[in-house]
Amino acid sequence: GETSDSFAIEESLKELAQLADTAGLMVVGSTYQKLASPNPRTYIGSGKVAEIKSAIRAFEVETVIFDDELSPGQLRNLEKAFGGDVRVCDRTALILDIFNQRAATHEAALQVALAQMEYQLPRLTKMWTHLERQAGGKVKGMGEKQIEVDKRILRTQIGVLKKELESVRKHRKQYRNHRFSVPVPVVSLVGYTNAGKSILLNQLTGANVLSEDRLFATLDPTTRRVQMKNGSEFLLTDTVGFIQKLPTTLVAAFRATLEEISESSLLVHVVDISHPLAEQQIDAVEKVLAELDVSEIPKLMVWNKVDKVTDPEKIKLEAERREDIVCISALTGEGLLEFCNAVQEKLKDSMVPVEALVP
Ligand code: GDP
Repeated sequence: GETSDSFAIEESLKELAQLADTAGLMVVGSTYQKLASPNPRTYIGSGKVAEIKSAIRAFEVETVIFDDELSPGQLRNLEKAFGGDVRVCDRTALILDIFNQRAATHEAALQVALAQMEYQLPRLTKMWTHLERQAGGKVKGMGEKQIEVDKRILRTQIGVLKKELESVRKHRKQYRNHRFSVPVPVVSLVGYTNAGKSILLNQLTGANVLSEDRLFATLDPTTRRVQMKNGSEFLLTDTVGFIQKLPTTLVAAFRATLEEISESSLLVHVVDISHPLAEQQIDAVEKVLAELDVSEIPKLMVWNKVDKVTDPEKIKLEAERREDIVCISALTGEGLLEFCNAVQEKLKDSMVPVEALVP
């Protein structure tokens, strides 16, 4: 964009790389270009296209991700320019991929599927005119009809999904009541992408897990069991991270993927306290949490990456001054024991008496 400065662009690209990593891709590089306005055909200029093309060959790149939303025409032209089987996608499609991988509840899966279809709908048109042109105009009109058919099918599917979502939402309360029958408390990690949630998850479970438990092997890969030396245990689960530039069309899908946290006994808000925008990120996360149905669930805040801040003592004093904040470094292991103890204390406070578990 013409108005954004280089810092904002680089920050945004860094986040995009982090998202690609979350989606399971290996990032080999990134680049950007300042134009007065995006090229209508290829978004970037022809020189940049050529530059990326040679990088594709050099690094055997399979996917090129654009940080902004591309028009269907730009998508197609770029794919043609890069050639071969190179997949071109934009930020929205990448985020949808992640949501799709991370949708843990039926409701979340439906909401993400809905967002994917709504994303596809305007992109159908150009695809078919493209095929028509390929056929040398011999089938003129065929593409147009096919677009209409496809659009109708997609709209019908969208309608069906919306109805199903409605009914799932209506029954959600009933499902929720089952949560108290889970014998091991569930602790959910929330926070911005890059806050250090997955490293924290791995650090804790790597050090404390007793053995591979068959029962929990069926859990999704983002949930681990933490066993404390005193015998108590809890399940720690990672959630899909917050994103700086979340396209508005994806807000509903994002919330839905977060809805599973309403089942947890404790919410742990992980903050990258070394980030220049840490305060804003905290506010953004708390705002969304306030809008979800989780006000009853106890919360604990973790200030991560204290090894990276310039004045760790000042940060630790500030944390002490406020309540319910633990300072850690998921990287060096500092504060992890204190963190586990704080989790335990919080869980003790929120224990439901056994009699209350029986419906
Ligand atoms: P997630 O997106 O919240 O799951 O974040 P990750 O666990 O993937 O961590 C994001 C990045 O922050 C990685 O490059 C980590 O190495 C880094 N990181 C995480 N925790 C710490 C920490 O305590 N200190 C430092 N210096 N870096 C950290």
